[in-house]
Amino acid sequence: ARALDAPLAEAWIRALAAAVDVHQRELTDLDSAIGDGDHGSNLHRGFTAVLAVLDALQPADAGAVLGRTGSTLISKVGGASGPLYGSAFRAMGAALPPSPATPAEFAGALAAGLAAVRRLGGAAPGDKTLVDAYTPALAAFERAVAGGAGLAGAASAAAEAAERGMRATTPLQARKGRASYLGPRSIGHQDPGATSTALLFRTLADVTG
Ligand code: ADP
Ligand code: MG
Ligand code: MG
Repeated sequence: ARALDAPLAEAWIRALAAAVDVHQRELTDLDSAIGDGDHGSNLHRGFTAVLAVLDALQPADAGAVLGRTGSTLISKVGGASGPLYGSAFRAMGAALPPSPATPAEFAGALAAGLAAVRRLGGAAPGDKTLVDAYTPALAAFERAVAGGAGLAGAASAAAEAAERGMRATTPLQARKGRASYLGPRSIGHQDPGATSTALLFRTLADVTG
């Protein structure tokens, strides 16, 4: 794909909802180890509501698809991940132009998404949160675009980087979110939110490739 238009944005969100469905148990098991065991069910509830919203209306452009996704996640998910992912998608949607987004424009939207997460949650890289998957994914996406890659190439590089960032959360001690209450006992477990963020970038690579 050369540009992110409304059908491609909707395909991404539908693929992400399907991935959350497939990986719901894994996300919940990871959250049972260092949190309260609801990350999979939180995201499943949120994305089920998102699918209903997308079924009921035809968003005019990619920004509207992502904006509606974000506001639905904020209103339907009680856990930390709802407002965090919801704000990320809302910021992405607001940053996109009404026309189909070029890879560089989409890189800007992804950057706005991460900025929203960091503003709301206050987590920095290394705090063992979804920021640890999102940050390297965004950097890889931007690097690929600067090197002339299209959406597919940039998304594939971002997915690889997100998965590396996800795995790199295992030895970290959590400094944000519920897992931080465990102190050093959070070490040795992969972060659930970093794991769902890897799904976010992997599904983007799947639908653009
Ligand atoms: P809750 O912790 O409220 O039960 P979830 O289980 O759905 O919410 O989500 C937990 C995930 O949210 C964590 O694995 C972590 O990646 C992410 N998270 C929690 N707090 C923050 C934060 N302040 N900033 C960024 N991400 C966070
Ligand atoms: Mg939880
Ligand atoms: Mg919870």
